[in-house]
Amino acid sequence: MKMKKLIKPFIPKPIRRFITYFLALSPVVKRSCNICGFKGYFEHFAGPPLLSEVVCPKCGSHSRHRLFWDWYEEAKMPLIEPVYHFAPEGVLENKFRGNLQKYVTSNITPTADCVLDIQNIDLPDSSIGTIICNHVLEHVPNDRQALKEFRRVLKPEGRLIVSVPLIEGWALTYEDEGITSERERTAHFGQCDHLRVYGHDFRSRLTEAGFGKVEEITAYGAKAVELGLLRGEKIFLCSGTAV
Ligand SMILES: [Zn+2]
Repeated sequence: MKMKKLIKPFIPKPIRRFITYFLALSPVVKRSCNICGFKGYFEHFAGPPLLSEVVCPKCGSHSRHRLFWDWYEEAKMPLIEPVYHFAPEGVLENKFRGNLQKYVTSNITPTADCVLDIQNIDLPDSSIGTIICNHVLEHVPNDRQALKEFRRVLKPEGRLIVSVPLIEGWALTYEDEGITSERERTAHFGQCDHLRVYGHDFRSRLTEAGFGKVEEITAYGAKAVELGLLRGEKIFLCSGTAV
C-alpha cells in the first residue's frame, strides 16, 4: 500500500485511469454455465450499463437464461404444452427443441415458427399451456394489452413465464412517450428500442391482466456467484385467474 502511494505521483493520470479500468474489467472468479457445461471466466456485456462477467463465452447465454434453466432443472415441473416461446433466445430454443413435443417459437417478424403480435394474438382463447417471454415487454407499446392477451390465450391451468428489465428500488415503472430518439431511449431506458424500465409495480400489471398467482424466482447468494447471475434478477411465474 505504501509503495503504491509512493509510485502513484509518477504515473501519468491517463495511464492510472487505464490501469484502473483494466483491473476493474479483470474477471474475479471462474463460473459455471448450466446450459452448455462451460467452466471458466465469463465475458462482460457491453451494455449500457456494462455488466461484468455475465456472458458465457461458449454458448453466449446471459444471466437470465441460466437463471431460467436452473429453475427449470430444479423444479422438475414439466411445462404444460403447447409451449409458445415469444422472441425466442437461441440458447433456450436449442434446449427446448429436444425436450418438448409441442414447442412453437413466435416473433413479430418471420424469423420464427409463426408470426404473432403479442398485443393482438391471433390464437383462440385457452389454447396455450405455457408462454415464455423474456425481455420482450419493454419493447412493446401497449404492454398491458399484451399481458391481457397472454392470459386470454393461456389455458386456465396454463402459466406465463416472464422476465423484464426491472429496478426493484423504483416503486413505479419509468416510461415517457415523449422520449423517442434512439439516443435518448438508450440514456433513459438502457437500449435504443426500449420504451420503459419496470419498477416494483410490475407485479400490479401482471395481476391487473388477470393472473391470480405470481411467484418469483430470484438470483441469490452462492448460486448467483457460481452461475454468473445478476444478483436480484427475477423471473415471474404467473398463473391462475383474477379473483
Ligand atoms: Zn454456456
